[in-house]
Amino acid sequence: MFGALEAGGTKMVCAIGDEFGKIQEQVSIKTTTPEETIPEILQWFKAHPVEALGIASFGPIDLNRNSKTYGYITTTPKLAWANFDLVGTVKRELHVPIGFDTDVNGSLLGEVTYGQAKGLKDAIYLTIGTGIGGGVMTNGKLLHGMLHPELGHMPMVVHPKDTYKGHCPFHGTCLEGMAAGPAIEERWGKKGSELADRQEVWELEAYYIGQALTTLILTLSPEMIILGGGVMHQQQLFPEIRAQVSSMLNGYLNTRQLNDMEHYIVPASLHDDQGIMGCLKLAVDSLHE
Ligand code: ADP
Ligand code: ZN
Repeated sequence: MFGALEAGGTKMVCAIGDEFGKIQEQVSIKTTTPEETIPEILQWFKAHPVEALGIASFGPIDLNRNSKTYGYITTTPKLAWANFDLVGTVKRELHVPIGFDTDVNGSLLGEVTYGQAKGLKDAIYLTIGTGIGGGVMTNGKLLHGMLHPELGHMPMVVHPKDTYKGHCPFHGTCLEGMAAGPAIEERWGKKGSELADRQEVWELEAYYIGQALTTLILTLSPEMIILGGGVMHQQQLFPEIRAQVSSMLNGYLNTRQLNDMEHYIVPASLHDDQGIMGCLKLAVDSLHE
């Protein structure tokens, strides 16, 4: 049995399952402070022993194995969790190998191992929710680099008719600042879920998401882009985003994938279990490290 911990800013999902991604049992614990939340997590895993554990966490996190703060949540705006040794704390109590990566790399790994992106070596997972984050697999490996990708904060060319100042405290009009759930709510005065029939909302949303995807296609050459998160429940966004990407690429690239956009820019395929399933794979992989 393998363990999975999807560490989010609002909830921690703990699960056990097998190497085929089959989840046996899971529980959701509210994220408050480490002092409160961590003992609950440990208690659950002590009652559900595992051979190895995979953790996919909100961040920024330290993924550099040579760093003194490997396994820490680092400079997060969730202050109670800043500079918290997540991997070390769990490892000291459970004594099993631990695989660790970003939440979005976890979701991507789930899709690449068990979902529609199975077998692909170059793929991207972007979540558009309270924030925007992206996981990247390149040449079969989850990309970390200097830190890890922070796709949500890429700069945007602001639409000529758009006067919104943006929601990101660091950059204003970055992708997250223009297109995450809170930006939609502030710009239009209503939650995204209440704006389904306002075409202009989703046209503008697709303008920014499509712009980001165009940059990602040109820089990382992914074979598939998977879009998840609460905002992407607005299914009408998919055709708009695909059209925006086609328009911006303007025929410059001619690949099998780009000629079949419906199978290239796609919704997540694992019923919101992609994160937990990715954690199971992180656990399996940690045994071989
Ligand atoms: P989180 O990012 O916190 O993990 P979600 O991915 O569910 O969680 O994203 C929450 C955000 O998505 C909120 O800003 C919410 O307003 C927005 N959202 C949730 N459901 C919908 C929907 N059906 N349509 C548009 N926006 C939505
Ligand atoms: Zn930003």
